[in-house]
Amino acid sequence: MGFCSFCNENEVEGWLKYYCTDCAMLKRMLVLHDPNKCVNILKRCLIRNEEQITNKIKLELKTQDKELNEDNSYNTPLPPLTRSKIKN
Ligand SMILES: [Zn+2]
Repeated sequence: MGFCSFCNENEVEGWLKYYCTDCAMLKRMLVLHDPNKCVNILKRCLIRNEEQITNKIKLELKTQDKELNEDNSYNTPLPPLTRSKIKN
């Protein structure tokens, strides 16, 4: 058994096959539709996902920073909100 000559990641099912199941399907899609159209769709989807992942990481980091700051506030005798309440 050899590896798929397209993705180089999955093993091919038979000796005479060059592509794995996924890549064979990709190839069929490219033949059925316009290759340029398929590439554009994939580009749009994959790039958007990457952006979403980056945004999610940024959000997570922000939340973590916030949580850390909130943790630090426990060390101070009175949090700002409570202090202003006492003044009023
Ligand atoms: Zn493959």
